[in-house]
Amino acid sequence: MNPNELADQLQFFRDIGVDSLSLLKEQAADPTANPVGAPQTAISKEPNSILNDMMTLDSIRAEIGDCQRCKLAPKRTNIVFGSGNPDAELVFVGEAPGFDEDQQGLPFVGRAGQLLTKIIESIDLKREDVYICNVLKCRPPENRNPESDEVAACNPFMKKQLAAIRPKVVCCLGTFAAQTVLQTVAPISKLRGKFYDMDGMRVIATFHPAYLLRSPDKKREVWEDMKQIRAELFRLKS
Ligand code: URA
Repeated sequence: MNPNELADQLQFFRDIGVDSLSLLKEQAADPTANPVGAPQTAISKEPNSILNDMMTLDSIRAEIGDCQRCKLAPKRTNIVFGSGNPDAELVFVGEAPGFDEDQQGLPFVGRAGQLLTKIIESIDLKREDVYICNVLKCRPPENRNPESDEVAACNPFMKKQLAAIRPKVVCCLGTFAAQTVLQTVAPISKLRGKFYDMDGMRVIATFHPAYLLRSPDKKREVWEDMKQIRAELFRLKS
């Protein structure tokens, strides 16, 4: 890590209210501080069904095509499929593209995305190590909440992305992603901070980075959730 990156990281720790010196000490003593290494999976990445056997991210993208399945299609600039490592051990699932994502065709590239990058780096991973996608692939007008018919049309593709990648851990960002992935109406404050088992994956929810931009006092909870993710990835390797 170069000095600028280190300064950024320390600033993030300061932002989330973590004392940087004690954190560095804790990392040195913590065997989970080096979560990426030789693939040694406790959860098998072997295909577990014919469906999974046949699916790749490319084939799922091809199936989406020039999607006209819901009313968001005419308003979008780009479909935002997802980006990152197709063999990721950790996948982040957000809600839906915003303005910047719609323009660029990539998830989490606006202000919230920059914060997400810092959050990922806070557990010694890089954005390229993980995979990032959204429940909806098209931007809702004025960033309004997704509607049920849009979710019904689009959610199957997010599920297929998870089935193709078979990550060890899925982190849902915010209420909407958490409720959709976990199929519950419980609030994010209740859902976050613990793991759920789903189709051989460990699922956890945390606050959405856009919410953190409005409520920076919640960063400490996100840091706690990220530490749990780091520890779980480490545990699943051993
Ligand atoms: N918010 C999301 O939920 N997803 C994005 O891609 C960008 C902002």
